[in-house]
Order: sequence, then structure tokens, then C-alpha cells
Amino acid sequence: MSRREIVEIGNPVLRERARDVTLDELRSDAVQALIDDMIDTMRAADGAGLAANQVGETVRVAVVEVRPGNPRYPYKPPVPLTVIVNPVIEPLDDEVEQINEGCLSVPNLRGEVPRHVSVRVRYLDREGVEREEIRRGLTAGTFQHELDHLDGTLFVDRVVDRGTLTTWEQFERFHRAAFEERARRLVERVGS
Ligand code: ZN
Repeated sequence: MSRREIVEIGNPVLRERARDVTLDELRSDAVQALIDDMIDTMRAADGAGLAANQVGETVRVAVVEVRPGNPRYPYKPPVPLTVIVNPVIEPLDDEVEQINEGCLSVPNLRGEVPRHVSVRVRYLDREGVEREEIRRGLTAGTFQHELDHLDGTLFVDRVVDRGTLTTWEQFERFHRAAFEERARRLVERVGS
């Protein structure tokens, strides 16, 4: 495994729609190595997820993992390592919550993004097995964020109230406590 460079906003690859991966490709050494590298890169950067576009590859592959006590997102419920290939996401109802997000490809910026509270995610795992999961709350938001990357969308595109944009330092100073309280109530109410 090795770490790859995370590309930042402005790099056109973040604006491309990634393409589906065939089963043969998924089983190839190249794609399996890409998945290993993405896991390594996400963990090294303390991310909650990483999409292939973020390391310059336009294939529909993303990884999600929240270890307890993640320093970037200490309020997120733990999520076991999940490799999602060719994912499809579908909201289960109309409920939407504002979630404060950041992104490894958008350095030093956070903002409030409306996200569906309950979603069904269908995807292939790294072995090519079809999976289906219901995700809720902050975890649902994380999956929506990663799927957006595969469509060339960044969280900043979805910020409705631009007055919520903040650097990480100012988030810490002025907004973190209130958001963590909202996040705690959301997790309590809907789970993950
Ligand atoms: Zn991101």
C-alpha cells in the first residue's frame, strides 16, 4: 500500500464524472492496488472517506471509514471500513438536515450542506459482491459526499447558505460546539 497525492479544488479531475468499473477491472491488480492506496491515503489524512477522483482516477470507487476519535470529525459515529464500487444512492424519504462538512480536496473550508437523512446505498464490494445498506444521519451524509465526488460535485457546490462557510480554525472557535450538539441529537434520533 502507498499513499497517493490528494488533488485539490481547481483540478479538473474533481469535476469529471467517474465511470463504472467492470467486474474484470475490479479484480485487476491495478484497481485492487488503487483501493489499497485509497484506504492508506484516507487514513493518513484522517479523512472519513475518499473517492477515486480525489487521487486523480475517474473510476466509480470510494472508501469510507470513521474510526472512533477521528481528529477531523470527532462527532461522527464510527463506520467500519467500507469499499464501495459503482455505488447508487437513493433517499428513503424527503427528510433533509444541514450537516457541517469539510473535504480533503477543499483545504481549510467547512460549510453547511443539506443532506438526506436516510438513504439506501447499493454497491459492489471490492470482491465484486453486491451489497445494499441503509445509512442514516451523519453517516448518510458521508456516503452522499463521497458519491457526489464520483459525479464531479464538491460540497461547496451544495452549500445553500454561503454565510456558513468557515475556515477550520473559525469553525473550532465559533461553530463547533453548536454543531456538535446538533450532530449529537441527530445521531441520537436517527442512528447511523
Ligand atoms: Zn470530499
